[in-house]
Amino acid sequence: MKEFAYRRATAVRDALVSVAGQDDARFLAGGTNLVDLMKRGVEAPARLVDVRALPLAGVDEDHNGDLVIGATTTNSDVAAHPEVRRRYPALSQAVLAGASGQLRNMATVAGNLLQRTRCPYFADLPSACNKRVPGSGCAALEGVHHNHAILGASRACVATNPSDMAVPMMLFDAVVRYETLDGEGEIPISRFYRPVSDTPHLETALPDGALITSVRLPGAAAGRQSRYRKVRERSSYAFATVSVAADLVVRSGQVSEVRIALGGVASHPWRARVAEAELRGGPATPERFRAAAEAELDAAVPLPHNGYKVRLARNLIQSVLTEIAR
Ligand SMILES: Cc1cc2nc3c(=O)[nH]c(=O)nc-3n(C[C@H](O)[C@H](O)[C@H](O)COP(=O)(O)OP(=O)(O)OC[C@H]3O[C@@H](n4cnc5c(N)ncnc54)[C@H](O)[C@@H]3O)c2cc1C
Ligand code: SF4
Repeated sequence: MKEFAYRRATAVRDALVSVAGQDDARFLAGGTNLVDLMKRGVEAPARLVDVRALPLAGVDEDHNGDLVIGATTTNSDVAAHPEVRRRYPALSQAVLAGASGQLRNMATVAGNLLQRTRCPYFADLPSACNKRVPGSGCAALEGVHHNHAILGASRACVATNPSDMAVPMMLFDAVVRYETLDGEGEIPISRFYRPVSDTPHLETALPDGALITSVRLPGAAAGRQSRYRKVRERSSYAFATVSVAADLVVRSGQVSEVRIALGGVASHPWRARVAEAELRGGPATPERFRAAAEAELDAAVPLPHNGYKVRLARNLIQSVLTEIAR
């Protein structure tokens, strides 16, 4: 591993000043992704600015009734928080479906949203990878890609976003709050992850040097019957093959509110807006859930070895909605 300077920041401004204008400086939170990538030579920062001592941990309700989750709150604390479990159960379930207890005790909210793809070629220095070295090509297209994207990808990159937490964040229209030396800002999660296009190395809309300070969950989006279900290659300690976060309100047999988001299928958590529009206002039946899922997945462009994800995503959407409607 390349030698690096380490500094523990004690105030947000101190952290921002420490990385300002330095392309090779990185914020360090739980380190569960960044340090792994440093060990493999994928990341080689000259300076790490540890943000864990900043006063950014905790979950609070603001004056609008929105839930504000501090950036350095651990994944374990998010999953266990009574208001998260009561108002946004899919978020708690998603966090608990990720990694292991030890990792969740270290990993933070901001770090989870910014974790890098698990495409094997991204972490393999000799392989061509546009995300790691722009313009070098994409080894996954002709290589092992059974776990890659079926929606929203490009020929430049077919990697998926590995975060479980990001999927219910997309479901609940979370808003990412950040700070730079120029002041504070907010980005709705629907615009937080950039479309992959031909620039897969540019992953988020965060300004350079920005520190994520919190994530706000709108009170209006709370979904007490929301669910998260994750399909993976083994029953624990594995990233999603496909996952679904969904919320549904049925009145007199009709769908009055519906939200659906998918994980494991795209470079960012995928909001299934086509399926939502198909369902809203119509009968809440398993047949219609299936038809809506199929309408969403019409946009899928599978690779030679990941076509199974289209059927899996369809079945999973139908199954989760049917379960909530029961
Ligand atoms: C074996 C293993 C299995 C895993 N399984 C899963 C899984 O099933 N599901 C899942 O979702 N995740 C899984 N993970 C990933 C894990 O959840 C992430 O590594 C973790 O959430 C990252 O959080 P962190 O705080 O450790 O981030 P770090 O590694 O410290 O940082 C990650 C990135 O975020 C940046 N960053 C951190 N905080 C801030 C901030 N406040 N503002 C701006 N930038 C910031 C860092 O600079 C870095 O680029 C797994 C990890 C491992 C090692
Ligand atoms: S899919 Fe993306 S991350 Fe994987 S090798 Fe291709 S460019 Fe790199």
